[in-house]
Amino acid sequence: MARVPLRPAVADLPAYVPGARVPVGAAAYKLSSNENPYPPLPSVVAAIADAAVDVNRYPDMYATELVEQVAERLGVPAAGVVAGCGSVAVLGHVLQAVCGAGDEVVLPWRSFEAYPIAISLVGATGVRVPVRPDGRLDLEAMADAITPRTRAVLVCTPNNPTGPAVHDDELRAFLARVPGDVLVVLDEAYVEFVRDAAAPDALAVHAEHPNTVLLRTFSKAYGLAGLRVGYAVARPRLAAGIRAASTPFGVSHVAQLAALASLRAEGELLTRVEAIVAERSRMLDGLRAQGWTVPDSQANFVWLALGDHASSFAERCARAGVLVRPFAGDGVRVSVGEKEATDLFLEVAAEHAPR
Ligand SMILES: *Cc1c(COP(=O)(O)O)cnc(C)c1O
Repeated sequence: MARVPLRPAVADLPAYVPGARVPVGAAAYKLSSNENPYPPLPSVVAAIADAAVDVNRYPDMYATELVEQVAERLGVPAAGVVAGCGSVAVLGHVLQAVCGAGDEVVLPWRSFEAYPIAISLVGATGVRVPVRPDGRLDLEAMADAITPRTRAVLVCTPNNPTGPAVHDDELRAFLARVPGDVLVVLDEAYVEFVRDAAAPDALAVHAEHPNTVLLRTFSKAYGLAGLRVGYAVARPRLAAGIRAASTPFGVSHVAQLAALASLRAEGELLTRVEAIVAERSRMLDGLRAQGWTVPDSQANFVWLALGDHASSFAERCARAGVLVRPFAGDGVRVSVGEKEATDLFLEVAAEHAPR
C-alpha cells in the first residue's frame, strides 16, 4: 500500500526531550526544565482569570499593547518587536524568514536542543561548532565556520545547558568578522539572570549591528513558561519578515494579558530573580567546595560535565527526589529552584564528587 512520505528532514528529526515531569502525587523537585520555581503572582493570576472571559474571541493578532510596552522599555521602535508563542516559536519564524533549503546555519554545540530541530525544519543544514571545555562559546571558531552558504549564526548567551554568557569584547570581535548579510541571532532567554560585568548590552550591540536579532522570553525570569510568550527585537524590515512568517494569532489573549501584568509587577518578579541568582551562587559554591569543576553559570541552571555518568547520576538524583536533565554521554543540567531542592541535590553531588 502506498504511504504518504514524510519529508526526510522531518523523518530524521531528533525528538525534543522535555525535562522529566513529577509523577502525580509524588514528592520530587523538578529541576529539569529551567522553570521558575515561584508560582505566578496573585496579580498575574487575576489578569489570567480576567482574560479567560474573552477566549471566544481571537486575540489581538500582533499583541499590540504588549509589543508597545516591551518596545518602550527597551527603547526600540514597536515596529522592531515581534511577539510569538515562546521564543522557540519566534526562532522558527526568524529562520523561516531568512533561510531555506541548502543554506547553512552555524550553531554552538552542545547548546539548546531546539536549535537543530528548527534548522532542519526550514531545510537548512546546521554547522555545529564545539563549545569550549569551560562551557563558553568559541566565537572565533564560529566565525571561522561561516561560508558563502551561511545565512544565520545562533549565539546562545547564556548558553543552555553549559551556563556562561559571551563577553562584550569577544562578541564585538565576532560581529566584526560576520558579513553584514548574515543574520546573528542572540538568544537571551536568561538575560535577567546575568551578573557577569563583561557580558554585553545586547541592545547596544543591536543598535550598531543591523544584522542582529535578539530573542527574549517571559518563560524563565517572568515565570510564564506555561503560557508561551516570547519576542524578537530586530530592525523593522526584518521584523516585518518575521511577523509575516509567524503563526496567525499565535500569542493567546490570556498570554498577552499575563505578560502585561508581569511587566506591571516587574519589580516583584525581579526580586525573585535576585533570590534565584543568590541560590545559584550557593549551588555553585557548594559544588566547587566538593571538588567539582563547574562552568560559570549566568543562567538559572548549572552544568556538570559527567560524560558517561550523566544518565546514572540523573537516576540517582531522581531516587533522592530531585529531577535533573541528563544529556546522555555528556552531562547533567540542574535548574536552580527551591532551597530544599539545592540541599538535596548537593547531598547527592557530594556522594559523587571528584574528591
Ligand atoms: C527556555 C529557552 C528559550 C525560551 O523558550 P520559550 O519558552 O519558547 O520562550 C529560548 N532559548 C533558550 C536557549 C532557552 O533555554
